[in-house]
Amino acid sequence: MKIGVPKEIKTNENRIALVPAGAEALVAAGHTVYIEQGAGLGSGFDDAQYTAVGAKILPTADEVWASAEMIIKVKEPIKVEWPRMRKGQTIFTYFHFAADEELTKAHLESGATCIAYETVELASRELPLLTPMSEVAGRMAVQEGAKYLEKLYGGRGVLLGGVPGVAPAKVVILGGGVVGVNAAKMAAGMGAKVIILDTSLPRLRYLNDVMPANVQTVFSNRANILEAIATADLVVGGVLLPGAKAPKLIRREDLKKMQPGAVIVDVAIDQGGCVETIKATTHENPVYTVDGIIHYGVANMPGGVPRTSTLALTNATLPYALKLANKGWKQALAEDPALLKGLNVVDGKVTYQGVAEAFGMEY
Ligand code: NAD
Repeated sequence: MKIGVPKEIKTNENRIALVPAGAEALVAAGHTVYIEQGAGLGSGFDDAQYTAVGAKILPTADEVWASAEMIIKVKEPIKVEWPRMRKGQTIFTYFHFAADEELTKAHLESGATCIAYETVELASRELPLLTPMSEVAGRMAVQEGAKYLEKLYGGRGVLLGGVPGVAPAKVVILGGGVVGVNAAKMAAGMGAKVIILDTSLPRLRYLNDVMPANVQTVFSNRANILEAIATADLVVGGVLLPGAKAPKLIRREDLKKMQPGAVIVDVAIDQGGCVETIKATTHENPVYTVDGIIHYGVANMPGGVPRTSTLALTNATLPYALKLANKGWKQALAEDPALLKGLNVVDGKVTYQGVAEAFGMEY
């Protein structure tokens, strides 16, 4: 199969959908891989690394799209890319259709087959192509939180791990899922006192079993949240109610009970955030302060560490890309129920319930 990897052109998107090792695997399986010139540079991969494993570099996005039977991307095609899509072409990327009707309609009109990373779902209900980005964001939340706790950035001037003779900082993590567990690992490793709150008792039991002694698990309810945040230095928001907006677990009036200069990193911002006063921010301008509490609400945290994020994402996507290339999308989806869940649009029709329901479309 002819596979195309265009350069990502959404603002500040530096990831690429295929690393040289992935290109090598596809070429070894007998496929032709076209990479747009310079597409890997933002993640630290130059054209020579791709040509060295047998991929072909094309100078323009138009040529990549025109040459490929399957396009592999990171972000959804944006408006300037829409005219490049064509009937019968397979596009494998993050789409997030349910959030954007115009985007959905453009893809329906294109006649392309759209398989969305974010809805590929295992029988365990795990979303294997979203998990790596939650891992990145959870770990990064502590790194960013530690930075904004420094006095220079307006923080409390507290070192997460403390030092001998000085108590460590207290890190409160709301939600013990993928984001929460990764944040907890980082904070615990740096020596902080960590509290994870979750509403799922089975999850709390699991965390209690696997986490080190400086991580405590606490059932998530209003009283326990208030008690925990009152003495917190860093709060990480990582709750998720699948398919719904995040619940507002910290209200505006609660900020006054927190310690001035404490930091909130609300990773759940992409679902509206779990803090009443959080709003989406950017890597250029990541924080603002409300009632003395520093708020960090970057909606695409993995974009800040594109090399790690590209490697993490492509580790997860490559096996599916290989299946799609080796068998063609119809056969690959017929044989893999997880990948079948990724099918969102085909032949001008929506094939994913959540997307159809979002716009009252037939499915
Ligand atoms: P997850 O499903 O693995 O974990 C969510 C956890 O929240 C679950 O354990 C659930 O029991 C818990 N929860 C639900 N209601 C709760 C409550 N009231 N109190 C405490 N815990 C509660 O989800 P995840 O992969 O960890 O993702 C968390 C959020 O982070 C999602 O909204 C995800 O989209 C977002 N995210 C954001 C970025 C970013 O760049 N900002 C990147 C990746 C993920």
